[in-house]
Amino acid sequence: MDENLEKTILVVDDSESNIDMILAILKAYDVIPSTSGEDALALIKEESVDLVLLDILMPGMDGYTVCRKLKSQAETRDIPVIFITAKTDEESIEKAYDIGGADYVTKPFKPKELLARVKVQLKLQNVIRELDFMATRDSLTGIYNRRRFFQLAEQMYAEASDDLYAVMIDIDHFKRVNDRYGHHTGDDVLKSITRTISRALPKPSLFGRVGGEEFAVLLKTGGQTRAMEVVSLVQQKVNETLINIGENLTISCTISSGVACKQEETATLDCLLREADMALYKAKEGGRNQSIFRDV
Ligand code: GH3
Ligand code: MG
Ligand code: MG
Repeated sequence: MDENLEKTILVVDDSESNIDMILAILKAYDVIPSTSGEDALALIKEESVDLVLLDILMPGMDGYTVCRKLKSQAETRDIPVIFITAKTDEESIEKAYDIGGADYVTKPFKPKELLARVKVQLKLQNVIRELDFMATRDSLTGIYNRRRFFQLAEQMYAEASDDLYAVMIDIDHFKRVNDRYGHHTGDDVLKSITRTISRALPKPSLFGRVGGEEFAVLLKTGGQTRAMEVVSLVQQKVNETLINIGENLTISCTISSGVACKQEETATLDCLLREADMALYKAKEGGRNQSIFRDV
């Protein structure tokens, strides 16, 4: 499929004839037209938009205000905005960039120039998304890497009351898998176990790979009983999953988990994760394939 068609562009202009012209120029893309700033803000919540073309002078909410609102919300902050406007004075152009506009095109615009500028922004966005993925995801499993896990965990920790559980998970005797079947198969097994854990976790949970065969989870579950149910379900699903590692050859693995709850005396996220880690150590000592709740 043409990758252009997968890109959605929101075009905001109070003049229907301008919208028609832009629709003709951007016929290779999925374009959502909107004739007011208010409608545009409502639409962008419903649709997944990759780029906004935004008129400045409109009755009701003007383009600057729309752009400011988009840039003030985390969900829409990263969507590039190209202003398309009849205003050609230097101050207006400067203001458009100051409030977060990515580009500025003056009316009457040249169709080929507009199309070229749209392509530049979409290409730039692809690169940014790829770089962001590389910086925040673990390349083997695709889940959050250690760095991103800790960033998001700090946010979650700061916002959470006391219904926050940390789980440290470690695959049991994973070295044996590598020794017996080779590192490449070990990698496949790691990917498979990651998928199983991810599917078994309730949404939303924060899940990251924090070491070689170690994972960390932050959960909000509504109580310790529920948290331990979640953890034992994860453990059960991993036990049950037969991982295909070659012709007629399947293996299964077990995991051990340590669980800790945020309490008044848990001063920091690091303390909470350390407590979960100590519980994990006990689970290993206790014979593996089990979950231990850390009582403080
Ligand atoms: P335990 O039950 O005590 O956790 O035993 P274990 O063998 O899982 O633990 P240990 O820490 O001794 O070994 C971890 C192994 O995990 C060794 C390492 O080679 C393997 N490992 C870590 N990261 C990767 C990876 O990305 N790919 C593969 N294939 N193996 C990995
Ligand atoms: Mg291990
Ligand atoms: Mg380990």
